[in-house]
Amino acid sequence: MDFVTVDNLAEHREAAREWVDNNVRPGWAWEQYTSGTHHTPELHAQLAADGILGAGWPPAYGGSDTDPGYARAVLDAVSDAELYADGWATTNMVLRTIRNVGTEEQKERIIAAGLRGEILIALGYSEPDSGSDVAAAKTRAVRDGDEWVISGQKMFTSTAQSCSHVFVLARTNLDVPKHKGLTMFLVPTDAEGFELQPIYTLGGQRTNATFYSDVRVPDAMRIGAVDEGWRVMRVALVYERGGGGRGSAGPTLAERVATWAQSTQRTDGATYYDDPRNQERLARIAIDEEVARLLGLRVRWMNERGELPGVEGSMTKLFSSEADLRHYSELVDMLGPAGVLRPESGAAPLHGELEHHFRSTVVGTIYGGSSEIQREIIAEGRLGLPRNRPK
Ligand SMILES: Cc1cc2nc3c(=O)[nH]c(=O)nc-3n(C[C@H](O)[C@H](O)[C@H](O)COP(=O)(O)OP(=O)(O)OC[C@H]3O[C@@H](n4cnc5c(N)ncnc54)[C@H](O)[C@@H]3O)c2cc1C
Repeated sequence: MDFVTVDNLAEHREAAREWVDNNVRPGWAWEQYTSGTHHTPELHAQLAADGILGAGWPPAYGGSDTDPGYARAVLDAVSDAELYADGWATTNMVLRTIRNVGTEEQKERIIAAGLRGEILIALGYSEPDSGSDVAAAKTRAVRDGDEWVISGQKMFTSTAQSCSHVFVLARTNLDVPKHKGLTMFLVPTDAEGFELQPIYTLGGQRTNATFYSDVRVPDAMRIGAVDEGWRVMRVALVYERGGGGRGSAGPTLAERVATWAQSTQRTDGATYYDDPRNQERLARIAIDEEVARLLGLRVRWMNERGELPGVEGSMTKLFSSEADLRHYSELVDMLGPAGVLRPESGAAPLHGELEHHFRSTVVGTIYGGSSEIQREIIAEGRLGLPRNRPK
């Protein structure tokens, strides 16, 4: 693997920070924090208008001539500004999946609309009774001429409240084993029969239950072949899990907390950094962050070579999400009682960032496939161990 080729954004970092200075409004991060909606429409529209969403895509599918390295550096800088772009993250996964499995007409129509910022797509895989065992989905799609009629319920359809479409996994065949009777559809959220209800999570993020009561979609919105939905969704999952890894150019978590700890006194007069237990904590975090960075770079490198990082994506997602969980737990311990103060208290160390992520990192080990499922994928795919989940 060539780290030089994939970690070559240095020349774009300054311009990317300028883009953020010129386009990101200071209140947006707070709005995302208080609403739990990890998507800001104005930010998304500007990213689309400046060709950042379309960078690296073929012109025939609406790609822009913006430098892909610059575009990635801008998205890193947006994340450094404590802003989530979850609407783009899920949309991008679906667009890449359509590029992989869609018809030429869908590539020209749907990908182009996504890159122009005209559509936003949420993921509708999980159901009340099927999360890890997602192939057990009960939501039905029945063909009626040139249309499909979709009925059922999805759980944790994150960002659907801001999205124009949900990428829905539905059962189209009851007479075959469960993995073989599924099909994927793009369902408009303004269709008759579509409803949603908010769900607020421990981490403060808002997600949704979505309901489909005889929702009609044209066959042109079917993604992939009939009964091939399992294969289509697995491609999308590879893009989801392979999205991990740190791309930021700013100081790492360990560096930022170390700076703060060196300049902040405890009640006994010593700084937080004087305590050798805190130095050990920060060293462990620094090591984990480097491992996560390298795993993420490998995934980026594979993506750039046009490969699908299956097991490698699972390794990155598993390691990064579990390391994040350990880090914030350690850091909240380091702060003692002040560690549980929220930003709105006005007195929270590091603006309450540690308390917030102490809660939000818990859910990171669940969505996109739980840690147990990632371990099973790695055990099977890398170590050749037998599958122990039901088929
Ligand atoms: C904040 C948040 C956002 C989400 N966003 C989305 C979204 O946008 N779209 C979407 O479709 N889904 C989304 N999800 C759903 C997520 O993918 C599922 O929660 C996840 O796959 C786990 O499924 P489950 O909740 O049904 O738990 P279950 O599958 O019931 O699992 C419960 C526990 O059992 C363990 N377990 C299950 N099966 C096995 C096994 N075979 N071996 C070992 N252990 C096992 C799991 O690891 C877990 O600890 C989101 C979830 C959260 C929390």
